[in-house]
Amino acid sequence: MTRLAVAIMVRSLDQAHAAAAVAAEHGADLVEYRVDTFTDDLPALTALVERSALPCIVTCRPTWEGGEYGGDEAMRLAVFEHACAGARRPAYLDVELVAYERSADFRSRIDAVVDHPDEPATRDTGLIVSSHDFTSRPRDLYQRVTRIASIPTCRIVKVAWMARSLRDNIEAFELQASRVKPTIALCMGEHGLPSRVLAKKFGAFLTFAAPAPGIASQIPQGAATSVARAPSVPNNQPTAPGQPTLNELKSFYRWDTITPHTRVFGVVGHPVGHSMSPAIHNAGFDATGFDGVYLPMPIEPSYESFKATILTWLDHKPLHFRGASVTIPHKANLLRFVEERGGQVEPLAKRIGAANTLTVHDDGSLTATNTDYAAALDAVCDSLGIDREGLADRQVAVIGAGGAARAIVAGYAQYGSNVTIFNRTADKAQGLAESFQDQPGDVTASPLDALHDAPFDVLINCTPIGMHPETDDSPLPDGAQSFGNGVVVFDTIYNPIQTRLLRDAQAAGCTTITGVEMFVRQAADQFKAWTQHDAPTDVFRNVVTARLT
Ligand code: NAP
Repeated sequence: MTRLAVAIMVRSLDQAHAAAAVAAEHGADLVEYRVDTFTDDLPALTALVERSALPCIVTCRPTWEGGEYGGDEAMRLAVFEHACAGARRPAYLDVELVAYERSADFRSRIDAVVDHPDEPATRDTGLIVSSHDFTSRPRDLYQRVTRIASIPTCRIVKVAWMARSLRDNIEAFELQASRVKPTIALCMGEHGLPSRVLAKKFGAFLTFAAPAPGIASQIPQGAATSVARAPSVPNNQPTAPGQPTLNELKSFYRWDTITPHTRVFGVVGHPVGHSMSPAIHNAGFDATGFDGVYLPMPIEPSYESFKATILTWLDHKPLHFRGASVTIPHKANLLRFVEERGGQVEPLAKRIGAANTLTVHDDGSLTATNTDYAAALDAVCDSLGIDREGLADRQVAVIGAGGAARAIVAGYAQYGSNVTIFNRTADKAQGLAESFQDQPGDVTASPLDALHDAPFDVLINCTPIGMHPETDDSPLPDGAQSFGNGVVVFDTIYNPIQTRLLRDAQAAGCTTITGVEMFVRQAADQFKAWTQHDAPTDVFRNVVTARLT
């Protein structure tokens, strides 16, 4: 069983005990008390452990290993000894490999308070020996693991390093799989999140979580603060970069449901921190009971980074990497990658020059598709009560000539709509129109200022005009009074949900479609491709709407 340990930076007894009680209430198995700055009152360390709501790890991390403890080793040993002096003892002590190897005195005093493998567990305290690198993957990573594992009193091996790319996580998984003793192998930073969320899939001894947000506010007012609070790690902040909170692990990433067979998906882009895709797809897996988890997957902008990372994840079979949403700047890279690997590329995605969905089939074959254009077609079809064939000969005005416009123009032209592209930069509109001349529908370009007088059945805004924070702007600043009934106005912007363009169109009696509808539908098509189940679109809509309002 992989334990969930909440790491608490101890500032006072009351604060630490309150945080441990909340962690217990929210389903944590263990707490780690980081006593780096809580070393002045040695008897308090005994009380810290004795009155803990959960079994605990006691760690006093020195500054030279990324912690906050700046004192000498004699005092640090006294800290550990006092933590072990009560009737109830810590479940584990965590000491650094460097400290343990360099001093015979440190070794013998630590060994005196922890269990030994050849004796009954009379001390009830196991030893975690750890090694950290806050800058990158240590060159001697595997040697460090071997040195730690060979320490007779070491019960748990721990290594943590700053991940420079998603590929580092694979080494963390391999270290878990090849363990000779229970192992914690974690990557730090934004690229390291998979090692933390998927620790349970690979049988890690534990993963760490930051206290759930709000724990600090649940600390009793006037709690004793016998030791001044160091400014660097407030009460409810992670004790290591990239550590998710207990709530995120439990609710968002559905920790309790993760098994060795759980399929892994993600959103690939750069940056991806703002993406709503993890929220909707994880909620969708939850609602349908699908055994999957969906992660942010930041990959540096180059094709080489994309290729190397995706290949590494595909090659690690126990990961069960089954697909990704792909966003800026990797949509063209996805097409190239899948073509190079001999996979299947949706013809219209190739024509558009961008794909947003990678599907990895059980036999390892790959498919690249574009669900953006399909979402934009189906949103309009549903509002008109027609199927895609019913789009033939409709007059469609597209504002903008960027990536979104290209996908939408391609989709409508393929189904026989007559598309006019209105764009600020005339050459770009002309170039886009020329690249779809062989489609069933006519595609032409027109100056942006001709838009107001142009006849159309459907108007689609594919520019950021009106997007937050410029919410008073509109691509039609003079309003939409002349549109008339029956016209469909569709704004691809989803923040805000109701743009000024849509508000004006509604006031003029038009049917309107929001960018949320397109976003939800493109995600629903991805969900279907990966799971073979219809997506719970109401759940998707609720998640997106809650995040945007
Ligand atoms: P893009 O490739 O950068 O293209 C932006 C287009 O907007 C260009 O044609 C640009 O004109 C035009 N534009 C930008 N600022 C303008 C201004 N102030 N006045 C007039 N024209 C302006 O962007 P994109 O990827 O196509 O995205 C466009 C919009 O679609 C964004 O608002 C995005 O939120 C939305 N979108 C929504 C979804 C969804 O699921 N709902 C999906 C994708 C995109 P020039 O050619 O003259 O530079």
